[in-house]
Amino acid sequence: MINGYDVEVKLLAITPEAEKLIEKAGRLCWDTQDKIGTVPDRIRKWMEVGHESMIEHACATFYIRASRVLTHELVRHRMASYSQRSQRYVKENEPRYIEPPEIKQRSESAQEQFEQAMRVCWEVYRDLLATGVKPEIARYVLPNACETQIICTWNFREIRHIIKLRTSKRALPEIRVVAGEISRVAKEVAPQVFQDL
Ligand SMILES: Cc1cc2nc3c(=O)[nH]c(=O)nc-3n(C[C@H](O)[C@H](O)[C@H](O)COP(=O)(O)OP(=O)(O)OC[C@H]3O[C@@H](n4cnc5c(N)ncnc54)[C@H](O)[C@@H]3O)c2cc1C
Repeated sequence: MINGYDVEVKLLAITPEAEKLIEKAGRLCWDTQDKIGTVPDRIRKWMEVGHESMIEHACATFYIRASRVLTHELVRHRMASYSQRSQRYVKENEPRYIEPPEIKQRSESAQEQFEQAMRVCWEVYRDLLATGVKPEIARYVLPNACETQIICTWNFREIRHIIKLRTSKRALPEIRVVAGEISRVAKEVAPQVFQDL
């Protein structure tokens, strides 16, 4: 549970010695490879002047469990590779959904209405499957709130872009939570690249 959202973000993989690789690429431009590691904020200074292409050499792969509302927005980020749980080949037998805390905060009756809607969606979904309708068709009755899982690979430049856009106050609350978690992890693994965000 993060800020009232039952979502998960896990770092699965990252370019080994990512900041070293980035500095190697940057220093190659000026033929100063002999100075690798001598200036603690070298990468940060390049980025401040807009020399950012070298951070594209490092990538990270995240596992995210969240709603389909969230993943619909997340996959708009195109410099990426995605693998998402299928609703065509996997039956959504259990009613798994993300309930935004904003619903419960509104009122008990709003929460009851929301949960009632989820129950009805899954009842109809199961009934359709029982009559022989394929999961890819029955899923049309499932809600946006339906829980999903996705594995995302982005380079560091795209991760910076996602963090900037998706932690903004204008972004969807659920995606702010997930982007905030990505940001927290990114700062731990590559502080020179992400610390300013
Ligand atoms: C608060 C908020 C509200 C939004 N509301 C809506 C909405 O109502 N409707 C809607 O449809 N979308 C909406 N979006 C999605 C938004 O329009 C973008 O599609 C999404 O944020 C992906 O960002 P991007 O296109 O910058 O970046 P990415 O796909 O992550 O690409 C990164 C960067 O690469 C460059 N780039 C990538 N592809 C191209 C290209 N083909 N040509 C030129 N440059 C490229 C751009 O500089 C881009 O910023 C919203 C996003 C936010 C954050």
